[in-house]
Amino acid sequence: MTTPRILDGNAIATQIKAEVAAEVRQLSGQGVRPGLAAVLVGHVPASEIYVRNKVRTSEQLGLYSDLITPPDTVTTEEMLDLIAALNAREDIDGILIQLPLPKQVDAKRLLEAVAPEKDVDGFHPVNVGRLQTGQPALSPCTPAGMIEILKRSHLPIAGQNAVVLGRSDIVGKPISILLLQENATVTICHSKTRDLASFTRKADILVAAIGRPGYVTPDMVKPGATILDVGINRITTREEFDQYFAGDKKREEAFLLKGSTIVGDVHPAAFRHAGAYTPVPGGVGPLTIAMLMSNTVRAAKLRRGL
Ligand code: NDP
Repeated sequence: MTTPRILDGNAIATQIKAEVAAEVRQLSGQGVRPGLAAVLVGHVPASEIYVRNKVRTSEQLGLYSDLITPPDTVTTEEMLDLIAALNAREDIDGILIQLPLPKQVDAKRLLEAVAPEKDVDGFHPVNVGRLQTGQPALSPCTPAGMIEILKRSHLPIAGQNAVVLGRSDIVGKPISILLLQENATVTICHSKTRDLASFTRKADILVAAIGRPGYVTPDMVKPGATILDVGINRITTREEFDQYFAGDKKREEAFLLKGSTIVGDVHPAAFRHAGAYTPVPGGVGPLTIAMLMSNTVRAAKLRRGL
């Protein structure tokens, strides 16, 4: 068995961000500064970290950014007014509404209220429809980043059997469409799929996006396959740690220090059968922010016909 290739998401994200920064510099010569509005409702600790990273990255790349923080008592109507104001602002090219939202807020109505040309998350039905019909669209960031990983690593997509585990609107469905557009033969599996392993074993490209720690085991992987592991599952007990990472000294040190670590949807032992794989963390994750930046610049250019 040959040593699998680790697909370094951090390195690819750095490359994309450098390209975005260069484009931002070029646009500034034309008097354009792409702007991103991030809307963070209430105080969800994980969301606060994500949004802070997004705002910091946009500033590092030279984009304008505006952080808007309504209280967690905000109503749907108030949020709709806020979005309407952002839709109308000339200095804002991308609107990001950090999920999850408080229960009283109708998330679906909000996502549909964002102007499709400023929908840098690619969640608006108009962008979903455009993606589906092969028209220029703002694609959801995580799936778009996964395609970048494959392309920039010179891994073949056309003609490959791609099996996607998960059918969410955020990951599973859009990555399936993007892989199809790249001429892969795509199979989508979900919680009602019978005999999952019979599908995964045929996968040249296996996408795991189910949110189940270490669910994909070595016997489910075709030798030499490319695995994209999207799962982010936090584990906190010693028992879980040993189940996935026994003998991994470096990871153990970090686990003991922090009291937790992250495992993907693929059992680390299964990566040994792969030809190439994205590690967790440091694989797919870093691409999400990079593609958000790239989408914001793209939105700025599209809106001005550049
Ligand atoms: P969802 O919970 O929205 O969807 C999970 C999907 O997995 C569903 O379609 C579900 O099927 C399917 N599923 C669940 N259990 C099984 C099973 N045992 N066998 C087969 N299919 C199953 O999750 P998301 O798509 O939002 O996220 C998936 C994972 O990716 C999570 O760990 C999340 O944290 C991570 N993530 C990472 C991102 C990043 O790296 N930046 C971004 C977004 C997500 P059904 O439809 O039948 O219920």
